[in-house]
Amino acid sequence: MPHLFERASTGRAKCRGCGLSIEKGEVRFGERIPNPYAEGETTLWFHPLCAAYKRPEPVLETLAQARESAPDPEALERAARGNSAHRRLPRIDGAERAPSSQAKCRSCHEPITRGALRIRLVFYEEGRFNPAGFVHLTCRADYFEGAGILAPLLHFSPDLSDGDRAELVRACGDAADPP
Ligand SMILES: [Zn+2]
Ligand SMILES: [Zn+2]
Repeated sequence: MPHLFERASTGRAKCRGCGLSIEKGEVRFGERIPNPYAEGETTLWFHPLCAAYKRPEPVLETLAQARESAPDPEALERAARGNSAHRRLPRIDGAERAPSSQAKCRSCHEPITRGALRIRLVFYEEGRFNPAGFVHLTCRADYFEGAGILAPLLHFSPDLSDGDRAELVRACGDAADPP
């Protein structure tokens, strides 16, 4: 079966991309993958925009085949094309203040100071998004090679304070993030 957009018949599924519930009646994206634990296929459910950022290729494939079933296909296509432009962009899992100074940055390998803004990363593997460490917000241009990260970064950071969101916008709205 191909991937699909469909209206959620229950409110029980959680989005693989952000971990939040997908409301009953809301359109969701289902990525069909070989079942890693058994015969046959299984479906990973996402909010459409979460999938566009974290699984851009299957979303683009589905938009090409069943565009009329997607909510706001232009916005989804823009998000998916943007994040498919660089192999590291789908790893973005949001921004946060480091709760301790224990983690080292994957880009510069220096510790990330407690309280500093850092970018959370995940690696997709066989239907799972595994935690894959952090990079300094200030190392974004090196790690993402200058690609724009602001939209997915804000999308996956719903818990950040308004002040921290404003700081992300200020930081990422610079020359490293051309519009
Ligand atoms: Zn989501
Ligand atoms: Zn760094």
